[in-house]
Parts: sequence; structure tokens; C-alpha cells
Amino acid sequence: MLEIKNLTGKIENKVVLNNFNLTINDGEVHVIMGPNGVGKSTLTKIIMGDFNYEVVEGNIIYNGTNILKLKTDERARLGIFLAMQNPLEIDGVTNADFLRTALSSKNQKNVNLYEFIKKIDTAKQELMMPDEMVHRSVNKGFSGGEKKKNEILQMKILEPTFIMLDEIDSGVDVDALKIVGNNINMYRKKYPNASFLIITHYTHLLKYVKPDFVHVVKEGKIVKTGDYKLAKEIETNGFNFEKVVIEAFDGSEVSE
Ligand code: ADP
Ligand code: MG
Repeated sequence: MLEIKNLTGKIENKVVLNNFNLTINDGEVHVIMGPNGVGKSTLTKIIMGDFNYEVVEGNIIYNGTNILKLKTDERARLGIFLAMQNPLEIDGVTNADFLRTALSSKNQKNVNLYEFIKKIDTAKQELMMPDEMVHRSVNKGFSGGEKKKNEILQMKILEPTFIMLDEIDSGVDVDALKIVGNNINMYRKKYPNASFLIITHYTHLLKYVKPDFVHVVKEGKIVKTGDYKLAKEIETNGFNFEKVVIEAFDGSEVSE
């Protein structure tokens, strides 16, 4: 599905990814964990083709095609999808119009209106999203959790094959997280070849979506790979930084 080879990437002249390597096969779920600012979101932006990020070296091969020369919309047409950590608001464009335009652009033909309405109705119900949300401006005034659900709605409508979910669980309440998890699992059942790259700080979502691999990123590359147990270990012990003792609110000492 996706092969990232010796990727070195920069933002604003700062090297963020440094000789990064990762291979993701069809149908696999890979999880990336790592401290803030190590380049997790940068990786997703580079895969998606955000022109603010510079690729200094390396290759990204998607189903046999080197995608680095392709524009973002061309990558999206190939089935690459990114649910962003901070989804953008688009004032004046309704969710429904946005999705229909995106789908038409992806398929390179106008989508049948009746089929589109049916599709969006089903997706909305499966995500337990209220009707009105589909007719509001994209993400405008949405709460953090609602924005994340809206990213999953986009995934369900566009039906990509390589899906990156950047902190899809941040700001999402426990019930909504369950719905998001269930929808990811439903999607995997429907498209067993679809692969996922999930960036998270916690194991909450991984209780629903079973990862095949959990990777720890530090200093621009993967420094450790394991499975769900590694995610659990990180949740409990952190990333093995030097132990810092801080004072808790009740005056006791807490090791962090
Ligand atoms: P994270 O692992 O938390 O997702 P990011 O990939 O967002 O980290 O960021 C990696 C580093 O690049 C951070 O130090 C961040 O401050 C920096 N960075 C990201 N985007 C920009 C930008 N647009 N301009 C300058 N620095 C940036
Ligand atoms: Mg990030």
C-alpha cells in the first residue's frame, strides 16, 4: 500500500523528519505515538502533499507510484485521505455541498444527487450526527468532538483506501469515541484492504480499533515498534524521558 523510504522533511528550514522509514501493507492499522512536536502531523502533511513542507530526500511509494511529484488533489484521487488534527472551517460552504464537490472531483464525474443524499443520510445516521450538521458551514461553530466526527463523515463519503487519522480522538467524549471507533471498524469490514495510520496519545480508541503495529516516533524517526501492549506501556510510563518529580496539588510528590 504505502512505502516511505528514507524520508527527510523540513518545515520553515527546520528538519522535522530525519531519514524516516515505514511500510504499511493492505488492510493494516499502524499507530504512531510520540511526544508533542516530533513530526507526527508533519508526516501526514507530507504524505498528503502540503506544499508548505519540503521533502529534502527520500520517496513515498503508494501502490507502486511515487507520489511525491503529485499535487494534493491527485493524491486524494488515488485514495489517500487525511483527517487533520485541526480540521479547517470553511465559512459559507455547507458540509453537503463540500462533500458533493469533493466526491465529484474525486470520481471526476458528477455524483448522482439521489444516491449522494442516500449515502450521506446513512453515514450521518451511523455517526449519530444531527441532520442540521450536514447543512451547516463546514466545521463552523462545531465543537472539537463534532469536528472529528465530521472528518469521519468525509472518510465515509469519499471512501479512500489509505487513511490517516491525526489525533481523531482528541476532544472527543467517551460516547462519541465509541461511535468513531465503531465506524472505523465498519469501514474496515466493508473495505478490508483499506489501511490506517492513526496518530494518538492514548489507548482509548485502540480499545475499539485493534492496531497491527504501534510505532514510537522521536527525533524524526521511528525508534520503537510493538503492538497494543507498547501503547499501554506508553500510556502508563510515558516515553522514558528522565524522570521529573513534580509537586501535586495536595503537596505529595509525583514522578512524571
Ligand atoms: P507533532 O508530532 O506534535 O504532530 P508537528 O509535526 O506538528 O508535531 O510539528 C513538528 C515540529 O515542526 C514542531 O516543532 C512544530 O513547532 C514545527 N512546525 C510545524 N508546522 C510548522 C509551521 N507551519 N511553521 C513552523 N514550524 C512548524
Ligand atoms: Mg500533531
